[in-house]
Amino acid sequence: MSDYMELLKKAGEFHGDICGGIVMGTKLAIHGMEQMGMTPGEKDKRLIVYTEIDRCICDAIQSVTKTSLGKKSLKPMGYGKFAATFVNIDTGEAVRVMDIDANNKDTDIDSEAEHEETIEELTERIARTPGDELFMVQKVSVKINPNDLPGKPLEIARCADCGEVVMDGKHHLKGGKAYCTSCFEKSYYQLL
Ligand SMILES: [Zn+2]
Ligand SMILES: [Zn+2]
Repeated sequence: MSDYMELLKKAGEFHGDICGGIVMGTKLAIHGMEQMGMTPGEKDKRLIVYTEIDRCICDAIQSVTKTSLGKKSLKPMGYGKFAATFVNIDTGEAVRVMDIDANNKDTDIDSEAEHEETIEELTERIARTPGDELFMVQKVSVKINPNDLPGKPLEIARCADCGEVVMDGKHHLKGGKAYCTSCFEKSYYQLL
C-alpha cells in the first residue's frame, strides 16, 4: 500500500495532477507488472505495454512501468478502452488487464455527479482494494512485428513519391517501390 502511494505520487507529478485516471492507472500498472513478475516503478527491458486508451490512465502506466514511446516499449492503440496489455518480449508471456469499475454497466456515463466520491476517497478505496477485485486479467498472445521491438532500426526506406525517409518498416510496397503512408493511402493532414 505504501508502494502504491509512492508510485501514485510520482504518476501525479508526471501527469500534472492526481485525477481519477491516475489513481486507477497507477493501480492497473502495478497489477499488470506484478502479474508479469516484474517490479512496479522499475524499468524492465523485457516489458512492452500496449495501452488501449490515450487518456490519464496512460500517463500513470508510463510512469509506473517506465515504458515510453521513444523506447518503443509503449504502444498506444487508440481503442478508447480502459485496458492495457503487458508483454514479456523474452518469454512471449502476456496479460491484458481490464478496469472492471470503468466497465461496470451500472456506471451511468452521463451522470458522474451521482456518486460523488472525492479523489481522496477514491484513492483510499483503491489503495486498500486488492488488484484482483479491480481488474480482470486475461492471458493473451501478442504477435509483435520485429520492426516494433526496441533496439536498432531493422528497415529504413525512402518514399518514391515525396522522397522522405520512412523508418521501421512503416513503408508500403507497390510495383517494387516504397511509399510512405501519406502518399500511399491517406494522410492525417492536408497540404494547403
Ligand atoms: Zn488526469
Ligand atoms: Zn511519401
